[in-house]
Amino acid sequence: MIKYKKILITGGAGFLGSNLVNKLYENNEIIVLDNLSSGRLENLSGSRLVGRDDMRVTFIKHDIINYIDFNNLDLIFNLACPASPPRYQADPIQTTKTSVLGALNMLELAKKNNARILQASTSEVYGDPDIHPQVESYKGSVNPIGIRSCYDEGKRCAESLFFDYKRVYNLDIKVIRIFNTYGPNMDPNDGRVVSNFITQALKNKDITMYGDGQQTRSFCYVDDLIAGMLKMMEVDNFAGPVNLGNLGEFTMLELAKIIIELTNSKSKIIYKDELPSDDPKKRKPDISLAKEKLNWESKIDLRTGLIKTIEYFDKVLKNESNYCVRGQISRVSSGLPT
Ligand code: UDP
Repeated sequence: MIKYKKILITGGAGFLGSNLVNKLYENNEIIVLDNLSSGRLENLSGSRLVGRDDMRVTFIKHDIINYIDFNNLDLIFNLACPASPPRYQADPIQTTKTSVLGALNMLELAKKNNARILQASTSEVYGDPDIHPQVESYKGSVNPIGIRSCYDEGKRCAESLFFDYKRVYNLDIKVIRIFNTYGPNMDPNDGRVVSNFITQALKNKDITMYGDGQQTRSFCYVDDLIAGMLKMMEVDNFAGPVNLGNLGEFTMLELAKIIIELTNSKSKIIYKDELPSDDPKKRKPDISLAKEKLNWESKIDLRTGLIKTIEYFDKVLKNESNYCVRGQISRVSSGLPT
């Protein structure tokens, strides 16, 4: 268990980052960096963080494409980057800068502090894969000039930088490859399939199916993912890269039908356009390495996870959420760090 550490979390106001903060803040000192491009402050002032006098979470609005200095850091989680295709494609040059310059800045900071640093990489490094399920040794099939390449190649370059810092400076690095993850604190407007389908179903609006709906994804519930991420951060002598994801593989059509059933929705499935350019046709992790090295596997099945996620989205959409309580973080600053 990670305890009594000074921890920097980039992207800490985002979906994964805020769930990580929730797991770590009780026993550690946390600094959150986020430029709030896709992260939301509300995620940090959630009910689980409200009303605590001993809270030690400092938020700094900062874009990691610029260097920022800290002392005495023990651990860095580098999670900053929009992860939803519409969001990361909205400003593709910024996405590449976040992935590459952000990684470089955080690696320099880790080197200076002699800190252990974890990189949130992605199943997107495999592109539209030729082998199935995807194992870490697979080198991927990525279009270097396509609309997804700002994210895919940005994350691949970040992995390259991480391993070069390990080889050149013997830095203590960790690389996880995250497969599609969902759960509370996802932004209902992020444009990803789970958020789109749940939002549409709850509003009884048309479900927007891209392509024929036969493309597959494997969806991991956020609590499982965070558990794997923490195990990776804790284990010694293993840099990765390691896949973290759920083994259940579903077509988008199956996903839509489950969501319609669980929400008791009147929504109809509407087929929209072709599959977006370079959209992977299938994706499923091989998690043998995570089992062997981390004794980890995803436990929460899709229906169970979706029920919790639908509850969360329902609250957010009805604006009844008690998560949206501001002013509970210890310091909000756009200035220099402490
Ligand atoms: N998708 C869809 N309808 C939507 C959003 C996404 O059919 O409203 C499809 C998308 O084309 C892709 C899959 O769902 O095949 C997963 O998309 P998502 O954006 O969640 O993430 P990805 O795994 O592609 O990064």
